Amino acid sequence: MIIFKHPADIRSFLLSIKGRFEATGFVPTMGALHTGHISLVNKARSESERVICSIFVNPTQFNDPRDFEKYPTTLENDIYLLEKAGCDILFLPAVADIYPDGILTTLKYELGSLETILEGKFRPGHFQGVCQVVNRLLDIIKPGKLYLGQKDFQQCKVLQKLVDLLGIKTKIIICATQREPNGLAMSSRNLRLNETGRNKASWIYKAMLSIKKDIKVGDIEQLAEGAKQLLIENGFKVDYVEIANADTLDKIQKWDGKTPLVTLAAAYLNEVRLIDNLIINEIE
Ligand code: AMP
Repeated sequence: MIIFKHPADIRSFLLSIKGRFEATGFVPTMGALHTGHISLVNKARSESERVICSIFVNPTQFNDPRDFEKYPTTLENDIYLLEKAGCDILFLPAVADIYPDGILTTLKYELGSLETILEGKFRPGHFQGVCQVVNRLLDIIKPGKLYLGQKDFQQCKVLQKLVDLLGIKTKIIICATQREPNGLAMSSRNLRLNETGRNKASWIYKAMLSIKKDIKVGDIEQLAEGAKQLLIENGFKVDYVEIANADTLDKIQKWDGKTPLVTLAAAYLNEVRLIDNLIINEIE
């Protein structure tokens, strides 16, 4: 695996080698890699001539500076896991490489309601920051395919909107959420929980499963409310548990039995903010 730190170096390397840009699969990450990230690399590996992964903890997508400061870094292990998974190139830029003119930008992406609901409501500016960094990374790497995890369901929608808005030709491939045996979605943030916390955190998945099990045509709002209460009883501070249209993410209160549904949840356990989602009326 070749490691590049500077955009100009990876650009000139990519320009110098033979092969189509469409043959490049790109997996952007913030590091502290786990099996979830590696499943994206594996998928990219199976479909691409060249696999590029980036590790960059993007300051502009953290609305809480403490969350940014506490973000775990495990670079040595990340490199080991990427090598083992057959990643060809690791892009490891510094903040000044990604934002040579500083992190402030006047550019605003027109994300519509996607920006103000769910994660957008609780993390103002988060998706603008995500678009800012991914736009920059796509501009440097110009991959044929961009591999994203369903774990960040709203982020997948936002980034699809970004590539549509800007006419970027990169195809987005969404990969299934990888979970611990107890159902907890794998996340770099889980490193901040101890074993008891990680066991408890699996209640998020159980609460979403209870929605999936009990879903019925008609009024479904009380199902989301019930799941939220279940989390509160188990010691979570809940930002939201919602049932939404899986295409648009609009909140659904009465279900017609046909609209594709997803349930999305965000809650704090011991100061650690966890998010997850589950497709309700489709086999995942
Ligand atoms: P992050 O490092 O958290 O920014 O995540 C980088 C990519 O890995 C994103 O596309 C995430 O959605 C994806 N990802 C994170 N956790 C998981 C997981 N448990 N299963 C599948 N993909 C994941």
